[in-house]
Amino acid sequence: MTVRVRFAPSPTGMFHVGGARSALQNWIFAKQQGGVFVLRIEDTDAARNRPEWTEGILSALDWIGITRGSYEGPYFQSSYAGEHRAAAQRLYEGGRAYYCDCTREDVQARTGPQQRGYDGFCRDRGLPPGEGRALRFRTPDEGETVVVDLVRGEPTFENKLIEDFVIARGDGSPVFLLANVVDDMSMGITHVIRAEEHLPNTPKQQLLWDALGVKPPIWAHVPVVVNEKRQKLSKRRDKVALEAYRDEGYLADAMRNYLMLLGWAPSGDREIVPWSVIEEEFRLDEVNPSPAFFDEKKLRAFNGDYIRALPVEDFVGACRPWLTGTGTIAPPPWQPDEFDPAAFAAVAPLAQTRIAVLSEIVPNVDFLFLADPLIDEAAWAKAMKEGAADLLDAAIVAFEALESWDAESLKATLEAVGAERGLKLGKAQAPVRVAVTGRTVGLPLFESLEVLGRDRTLTRLRAARVRLV
Ligand code: GLU
Repeated sequence: MTVRVRFAPSPTGMFHVGGARSALQNWIFAKQQGGVFVLRIEDTDAARNRPEWTEGILSALDWIGITRGSYEGPYFQSSYAGEHRAAAQRLYEGGRAYYCDCTREDVQARTGPQQRGYDGFCRDRGLPPGEGRALRFRTPDEGETVVVDLVRGEPTFENKLIEDFVIARGDGSPVFLLANVVDDMSMGITHVIRAEEHLPNTPKQQLLWDALGVKPPIWAHVPVVVNEKRQKLSKRRDKVALEAYRDEGYLADAMRNYLMLLGWAPSGDREIVPWSVIEEEFRLDEVNPSPAFFDEKKLRAFNGDYIRALPVEDFVGACRPWLTGTGTIAPPPWQPDEFDPAAFAAVAPLAQTRIAVLSEIVPNVDFLFLADPLIDEAAWAKAMKEGAADLLDAAIVAFEALESWDAESLKATLEAVGAERGLKLGKAQAPVRVAVTGRTVGLPLFESLEVLGRDRTLTRLRAARVRLV
């Protein structure tokens, strides 16, 4: 039997990190089993039918390594409406489903507001189909439904506690629960690996598989992803969009490594491991069923480690979208012709050790490419205290006289200028740094001045001095 798994996102306008995690788990499982990964877009909700949302899913998958053309699909659930209806009809004709004309109010009037679920009123009324009549599945009165779940063992559900649930609405349209089963069935899915939030629906779905006469798949309900307050990650409250992380400058390799640590770890106390190790070692039955904490701080630190591990030329290449502004990434504050690749290459190794996400490259290097630095006024106020004007005057004179414009000479010079005024180097650097870069923190100052060059450095120091008059 060929293993066939599927990833079945509903388009929502962004790609949830929890979805990315499930997609990767499916992907690896299929690969390990020599199986097939199917992508199905569950777009039956008309409002979720925007082509750009589907495109967003495809490109987000692509980014984390589930590349176009290397899987089956995408299929679109909306194209299989005929099959969904046919299955509903088959269940009706086989006596496994019945029509019901109860309104919610009718049911509540009979059962009282406390009781949840349907009371089975129409079970034996033999109503024919008709406008406004929902089709309900006749759940067995006895027995249990045992879900074989690679992550959770064998969750068992008593059938008598499962209500006769609706499988097609009053207008005849099949509900998602049924469509999802019918598609899995016709696509030959053998293993359903998906988020825990679908577990409550699983016994109902398994009953549908049984009723339609097909052996149900093996399930794996992977843990829900939560924030630091142990709340399920939500798009209203938390940063959940994979695209947001991508555009902020998380590396795909860091991201997918981190996502795979949600509820699982590779052997030997390691966290940062090559993808090939994850592909080899990952086991669904080792996934911890408890909610998995999506720790953004840890991910950030992780990403910093990944950035530092890049060969410098790869780092330079990886920064390019933020240096030029491509696609969904905002353009930098300088004009394209102001950018100087050689100057960037010169400071890149210094920046590489200091940033945790690639977008942070921009504020670190903008002083090199802008005609005038972007002055952070708070930084200015902090650095340009008493004595700053005098220090800048002395620095200007000393820098003008420098024979060799290199980091070492610049440092020795400013150190001497500071010492004459009883200032340690750190204190002497502050006004110079703000005058030249606009900020109090940034790349090592003297290397920055070396790359910026004598003329531009002096112009900025003089401009700052004028402002201090
Ligand atoms: N379309 C569902 C979702 O995005 C997935 C259902 C499933 O995986 O069975 O939550």
